[in-house]
Order: sequence, then C-alpha cells, then structure tokens
Amino acid sequence: MTVRTRADLESLPSYVPGRSLPGAIKLASNEVSLGPLPSVVTAIAEAAARINRYPDSGAAELTAALARKLDVAEDQVTVGCGSVTLCQQLIQATCAEGDEVLFPWRSFEAYPIVTQVVGAAQTRVPLTAGHALDVDAMIAAVTPKTRLVFVCTPNNPTGTALTRSELERFLAAVPEDTLVVIDEAYREFVSNPEVPDGVAVAKEQWARGRDNVAVLRTFSKAYGLAGLRVGYLVAPAPVIDVVRKVFIPFGVNALAQVAALASLAAEDELLARCREIVAERGRVRAELVEAGYEVPESEANFVWLPLGERAMEFNEHCLAQKVVVRAFAGDGVRITITTPDENDVFLAAARSFPR
Ligand SMILES: *Cc1c(COP(=O)(O)O)cnc(C)c1O
Repeated sequence: MTVRTRADLESLPSYVPGRSLPGAIKLASNEVSLGPLPSVVTAIAEAAARINRYPDSGAAELTAALARKLDVAEDQVTVGCGSVTLCQQLIQATCAEGDEVLFPWRSFEAYPIVTQVVGAAQTRVPLTAGHALDVDAMIAAVTPKTRLVFVCTPNNPTGTALTRSELERFLAAVPEDTLVVIDEAYREFVSNPEVPDGVAVAKEQWARGRDNVAVLRTFSKAYGLAGLRVGYLVAPAPVIDVVRKVFIPFGVNALAQVAALASLAAEDELLARCREIVAERGRVRAELVEAGYEVPESEANFVWLPLGERAMEFNEHCLAQKVVVRAFAGDGVRITITTPDENDVFLAAARSFPR
C-alpha cells in the first residue's frame, strides 16, 4: 500500500542535490562573492552563544529598523525566511483553489513552483522581444480570478527593469482588489534614474487610496546574506496582517535577525560594494557586446545572454573553463557579475566560445 499524496504535485520536479565543481568560479546564483562584512561576522558570532534560545518570532527589532529605514509604520513591514518564503505566504494569503497568480515569463524560477505548491492556477505572460516585461500583455492577461501579480523588476534572469511610467501605467490598469507585488530583489543595483524605487511608488499609491501595492526585498543579494535566509515585505497593514497569519513560527532564525540588523548598520559600506558591481556590469556588458553577443541592458548584478538553442552548449563550454553559470535550455544564460578577477575569467570563456 502506498500513502496517498497530492496527485497535482507529480508534475513538479523532485529535489536534485546541486552539483559542486571544486575550484570553480560560481556565477550561477546572483550572490556577492566577497564575504560578509567583519562587523556582520562579529554580530553572528556573538549571537551564536545564545542560540539555545528561540528567536523572536515577530523579529520586532529588525522590523522596527526596517520601518525606520523605509519610513513606513511597523505594521506595514514584515520579514520572512528569504523573500521566496514571503512569495509563498503571499499566495497562501490571497489565493484559494481556482484563483490565479499572474507573472511574466521567463522570470524568477520560484514563482511557478510556489504557486503550484499552494494549489493556485498560474498565468505566465511572455516577455517582449527585447527581454523586458510586456506591460500591455500583462494588463490584458488580468482576469476576475487574478488575485496576485508578481512584477519582477529588475527581472531575474533578463536584468531589464520597468521605468516609472511603465510601472504606473500597469498599476493604474490593475483592479484595486488584485494585489500587485513588486519584487525588488535587485533594487540596490539599479543605476538608471528612470527606474523608480518601488517602495516610494507603493507609498504614493497608498496615499491615493490604492491599497493593492506591495514590495518584496531581500538581504540575500546586495547585503550578502544568502546563506542566512531573510527577506522582507512592505505592504499596507491589512496585507501584512494576513501574510503574518500564514507564517511558520520562528521562520526567521536568530542569526539571520542579528546579521540583517548589523548589515543595515553597515549599509553605506555594502552599498559601496554594489556600486563597484554596477561599474563591473557596465564593463562586462561592453566587452560582451564588443565580442558580438546580444546583451540586454541590465539593472541587476547579472547579465543575460539570449543564446536560444545554444544556451546549453555555452553552459558546457563555461563549465569546461571552471566557470559555473546558470543556463535555461533553449532560452539563454544568466551570469552573475562579481569581482573584476572573476569577471575576467568569465569573459575569457565567453570570448573563446566558438560562434
Ligand atoms: C534571489 C531572488 C529572490 C530572493 O530570494 P531569497 O529567498 O530572499 O534568498 C527573490 N526574488 C527574485 C526575483 C530573486 O532573484
């Protein structure tokens, strides 16, 4: 006799352990290559001595620090075990069976997975020929069943970002009872002044009585805490309230809470690192274009090569040079921008790819 499990989960891939390549340069997960700042390591080490205690389940100190930084009320922000967990909580809090989640595609790989795990339906809206979110097609795809829309900007994996006018046009067209979640995992790497700060846009919408706009951010990318799992959601209080109801108790661990607080205290130093990555992004993109590649303008800490059918061949070529990139079969390859030395190793691999 076999235990009865959900038949709809059969279409999800089973867990496969990640492959590690000793000595390789890892440019596959949009992490920062430099380690955490010494002040952050010290805060984690000190907190380790108290790890026999449960963490503060509500992460009150971190929530208060975020509210101060973002100039919102404490009931307008909540933290989660990585922003990917907050994505899942948002769907759980808005969708019952038959309700729809809408998102661009290709975009963040977690959207389709968490949507299916919750049991909601999904609508994927193809990107434009320029690898950007297709605002008009997304507006046209909203139905009365759409409860939640993820707007990934800058978009993972293509790096393109919506301008203020594009984002505002989208928000104006979406019904007020459909929650729009602006996923800004890469906000700290944005350099184009036409790309707005999502939290500022959300606050303007709230001031006009539009309570359906939320923003997701994470400590995993710019703040270099991917291994600790902590992200946050900024949203109107009623949205925060329901998202907290579907929270797994103690989901944000004690070390993550102190590390996030220490990182906020060292923000200037971390953001200076981001500026170096942004400068490297410009250099790497220019050299790739020079070498004959199509590379969409990126506002994130990665670039996208829309190689289509040659994506997996490019992946194998990079692996042979001990460079681990992220390839999507038949579509393209995403490469994280890190330090000049690592970027140079990747550029050498890209230049030697037979074309
Ligand atoms: C990396 C990423 C996240 C964040 O993940 P965490 O769970 O916070 O590590 C969220 N959204 C997008 C688009 C991402 O690329």
